[in-house]
Amino acid sequence: MTTHFSENWFLEFYADLIEFMQDNENNFTKWGDVLHDQLHEFYVTNPHGDMVRWKASFDQLPNVEGVEKNLNTSAITFSSDQFSLQDNGHLNHALKGLLPWRKGPFQFFDTKVDTEWRSDWKWDRIENHLAPMHGRIVLDVGCGSGYHMWRMLGAGAKRVVGVDPSKLFFWQFEATKKYVKLASNVSDSPIKSANIPVHLLPFKLEDVPAKLGAFDTVFSMGVLYHRRSPLDHLTELMQVLRPGGEVVLETLVIEGEEGQVLVPDDRYAMMRNVWFLPSAATLCQWMRRLGFKNIRIVEQNYTSLEEQKATQWMSYNSLKDFLDPNDITKTAEGHPAPLRATIIANI
Ligand code: SAH
Repeated sequence: MTTHFSENWFLEFYADLIEFMQDNENNFTKWGDVLHDQLHEFYVTNPHGDMVRWKASFDQLPNVEGVEKNLNTSAITFSSDQFSLQDNGHLNHALKGLLPWRKGPFQFFDTKVDTEWRSDWKWDRIENHLAPMHGRIVLDVGCGSGYHMWRMLGAGAKRVVGVDPSKLFFWQFEATKKYVKLASNVSDSPIKSANIPVHLLPFKLEDVPAKLGAFDTVFSMGVLYHRRSPLDHLTELMQVLRPGGEVVLETLVIEGEEGQVLVPDDRYAMMRNVWFLPSAATLCQWMRRLGFKNIRIVEQNYTSLEEQKATQWMSYNSLKDFLDPNDITKTAEGHPAPLRATIIANI
């Protein structure tokens, strides 16, 4: 099969989102005005070297009749009694072409995509603390494969936009969306992604137009510690929200008093791009200083070797290899092992 990219091919995936954001009634026109050009720049002017290979894998995904979906269970699940052995071969080949799968799990018919992370455990820990998703327009910053976006839709969100600069994740996300679409019987629509109000944009939070002031909820999970400038990240989160909106912030923290923060000299748990690990109390103080209201720590949890591990869908090193083999309360570098906190606040 040959994979072709026509000029503006990305509109197949984004036309409905651009239309929504350009509509004066939706408060997103600041983004709607530039979104087409941002996408053109990303996909056409500077395409990633693996784009053709990933698109070819995506194109191999079989069209299945009678698909049913379940977005409210630990694995995002698709099933059909018309799924054939031949479909299974094509599906496996296509999904394997999109390795590594980090965030999940997913159950695509007979194939369980057992991802590096049990992202469902994170969702289970936070879900009861969230303002009800029903009717909300949500931004998921650093959305990875989009696993949590489907849980948000399943919980009743009206629309979910994810941003993540990692290019492979778009295709994992679209593979999932293909079956959500088939399960929703909108595959004959002239705009293929019509009526599924969930989109992944291949950008960073910094690329969202300044002071958008439009989302009801913004999630930033697993991103803050990757930023050199955490207060800028928090400010940007604030500025995408409408007045009264909610921020859900999950990040690596250390145990300790207000004022304590770890800035590793070099790597942290083998990661090069880790900057600030504040105590949860310090993080709350930063947020107070920036003007967030109603700030509360809703959970704090050491990542277990069961929650993050190598699998056949992500066969590189994982948490066990990033910790001190003689003392798993420490990272390989001797720092405290990964502890994560979730803080929810309003503006
Ligand atoms: N939110 C998911 C995934 C976390 S992994 C979860 O909690 O399970 C962190 C993700 O953040 C990565 O996929 C990475 O590509 C993305 N990321 C890193 N810097 C970012 C930035 N500045 N803006 C948006 N996403 C970013």
